[in-house]
Amino acid sequence: SRPLLEICDLNLDFGTPRGRIHALRNVSLDVPAAQVVGIVGESGSGKSTLAYTVMGLLAENADVTAGSILFEGRDLLTMTAQGRRSLLGDRLSMIFQDPMTALNPVRTIESQMIDIQHHEQGSRSEKRARAVDMLHRVGIPDPKNRLGAYPHQFSGGMRQRVCIAMALLVKPALLVADEPTTALDATLEVQIIHLLKDLQKEIGCSILFVSHHLGAVAELCDRVAVMYAGEVVEQGAVRDIFRNPAHPYTRALLECDPGRIRKSTRTLPTIPGEVPSLLGAKVGCIFRTRCQHAFDRCVQENPVEYRIGVDQVARCHLLGQERLVSA
Ligand code: ATP
Ligand code: SF4
Ligand code: MG
Repeated sequence: SRPLLEICDLNLDFGTPRGRIHALRNVSLDVPAAQVVGIVGESGSGKSTLAYTVMGLLAENADVTAGSILFEGRDLLTMTAQGRRSLLGDRLSMIFQDPMTALNPVRTIESQMIDIQHHEQGSRSEKRARAVDMLHRVGIPDPKNRLGAYPHQFSGGMRQRVCIAMALLVKPALLVADEPTTALDATLEVQIIHLLKDLQKEIGCSILFVSHHLGAVAELCDRVAVMYAGEVVEQGAVRDIFRNPAHPYTRALLECDPGRIRKSTRTLPTIPGEVPSLLGAKVGCIFRTRCQHAFDRCVQENPVEYRIGVDQVARCHLLGQERLVSA
């Protein structure tokens, strides 16, 4: 069956006084139904830009120059504002890094949790009961008595739980989560990841999960896309990519021991070399300034995606050669 979300050859620029920043280049990525897809990459690689573009939360200076984002077969980029509004908070919802982005500071949790169910059937008291139940499931103690509280009366970790409860109350088909655990301590992060996994399975939704944390991706995701300087350089099944990374950038990220990735490494390892400027047009491979294997062709030609395994593709000229050799 066709994927729930199909991002196809997406290109996005930001207009700035210094020129156009090419923040997304030829990004193609599918999110299958009921699967969790991780997006990893260094700061500035375009992860949030991609997540926000899916949600239609584009900055004023953003310009989609090519591509499509099909959600349940309809293009989110060409849809009317009204069509998009009817999807948001119904089929599509989002969790942000900072929970206060989604919460209104001057309204009680109760009124916000009831409002978010405006697409759902049922009376106010039924919606209140659902809110209590969901708060209970995300681990808010004594939820009945906490409903009347304001967001500032919760700790940061509790506020993120409230946001997850709200995002899942709408029973979305797709939940977009942009670094939902980055602001939390490691213990809370583990709890939230397990919670997301349980609720995802129960609701049967898909998640697009943006993270710096390879361990969290290994834990939560079925698939992963590795971004570098606005491009997806490698993507596929988490199992395959973590065991057998093909792109030199992914290899560098995963070079440290997998046990450490699962447990303590919360940030991506640092790779020597300079990240290219995103200003202006680019020829050649985007990773070549930091790649130990770069050769002539990498300067002249941007690699296409090569299929490596059943469920793994990567953009690197070396893979094309290997394929020719093994063919
Ligand atoms: P982080 O891990 O730090 O959150 P990211 O991968 O989410 O990074 P983005 O926030 O998507 O990266 O940014 C991608 C690039 O686009 C960066 O170079 C950033 O400076 C630039 N950028 C983002 N928003 C704008 C904007 N509104 N105007 C100009 N440039 C922008
Ligand atoms: Fe390195 Fe060339 Fe492959 Fe790019 S195409 S990752 S520069 S070997
Ligand atoms: Mg970001």
